[in-house]
Amino acid sequence: MASSVEPMRRTDVLIVGAGPAGLALRLALERLGIAAVQVDKHAAGLNTSRAAVIHARTLEVLEPCGVVAALLAKGIAVPDFRVRDRNRVLLHIGFGDLPSRYRYALMCPQNDTEAILQARLDDLGARIERPAEFLGATDAPGGMVAELALPGERKEWLFARWIVGCDGARSRVRDQAGIAFVGDDYAEQFVLADVHMDWPLSRREVSLFFSERGLMVVAPLPEPDGASRDRYRIVATVPSAPAVPAIGDIDALLRERGPHAPGLHVEALAWSSRFHLQHRIAADVFRHRTLLCGDAAHVHSPAGGQGMNTGIQDAVALAPRLAQAIRCGDTAGLAAWAARRHRIASGVVRMTHAMTRAATLTAPMPRALRDAAMGLVGNSRFLRRKLAVRLAELGN
Ligand SMILES: Cc1cc2nc3c(=O)[nH]c(=O)nc-3n(C[C@H](O)[C@H](O)[C@H](O)COP(=O)(O)OP(=O)(O)OC[C@H]3O[C@@H](n4cnc5c(N)ncnc54)[C@H](O)[C@@H]3O)c2cc1C
Repeated sequence: MASSVEPMRRTDVLIVGAGPAGLALRLALERLGIAAVQVDKHAAGLNTSRAAVIHARTLEVLEPCGVVAALLAKGIAVPDFRVRDRNRVLLHIGFGDLPSRYRYALMCPQNDTEAILQARLDDLGARIERPAEFLGATDAPGGMVAELALPGERKEWLFARWIVGCDGARSRVRDQAGIAFVGDDYAEQFVLADVHMDWPLSRREVSLFFSERGLMVVAPLPEPDGASRDRYRIVATVPSAPAVPAIGDIDALLRERGPHAPGLHVEALAWSSRFHLQHRIAADVFRHRTLLCGDAAHVHSPAGGQGMNTGIQDAVALAPRLAQAIRCGDTAGLAAWAARRHRIASGVVRMTHAMTRAATLTAPMPRALRDAAMGLVGNSRFLRRKLAVRLAELGN
């Protein structure tokens, strides 16, 4: 335990992880005057694109944190979402009449989003301790003692009244608290690529292509400095993918699932990856003195781009409840937060699972029924708007 010469450090809150959920939580707590210790096991943030869409509700909840202007300056506003079968539009959802000041989806690579949140924390003088890995925690009167691994095989034991796991899908905070991660794996893998190409459709549209071979999403990304061609994010489900998909793999997906357009091909590949996906929810996001936000609490298909958004919203909503528990010892707000976030995450998992399954139907009859259902939704202004509000997470 703690060395006899140095007294154990104490904090009201230990935030484990500095991905989007952890960074958002720290910002929201700073705003409320709650100091936290925040650790991340990596020496620096991951510099990869990953989640690329920020929805209206996320921009709304981030407003008080002072980062929205920078996000808007970095991202690209996309007001239309179309579901397509090749060149045929099955459904058009417009974000143009969302009940929000942000009537679009903002496309912004995750590394840029994280850099903007991090820069704001730097402005506030809120430091992240890294590399520092959370190994586990034991009960102590009024809180928990967390064990941290530091560089040079050193260790630190830290007393925290509350521990918040923002430590991603393989959360050790969740595991050490004995919280089950309930759900299943998808059989498919997901291919991701950021590419430069001449794309025949509008840059004001996110396109979701339904195909019997799997789904494919093509979305515009902001131009990095000095780029000569338009940049796009491509996400597709495949039975199995190489660890680093090459240009030829992405070209094959475009030919197999994209619009019929002569000469359509990828000019340059900026980044590519694959990931294996699950749909799982933590049985509980509040147990004893442990709370969970972001991927530690829920993971699901990227269809609809909900993952990072739901995580940031978990975190921002938690901050005032946690401040109340710290200042007044009142944990009723935490219980209410937990019940609500669990309900929201369940809804997101259901919706993204249904979208993924609908997109990858192979038998002709179910496909025809699906397309007919799309037509019905497309003909109803009420249903189109309802779906737009749901995708933008404004119902949250
Ligand atoms: C290749 C890839 C592509 C993706 N593409 C998309 C996409 O297109 N759309 C989408 O919506 N989502 C996508 N995602 C998912 C998205 O990136 C996540 O939803 C998002 O990053 C979750 O944020 P988070 O803060 O909850 O967790 P994370 O971003 O996973 O951050 C967790 C942090 O905790 C730290 N950590 C973990 N364990 C410990 C420990 N024991 N001690 C200390 N620190 C620890 C990690 O270093 C990390 O910094 C993708 C993910 C991957 C991997």
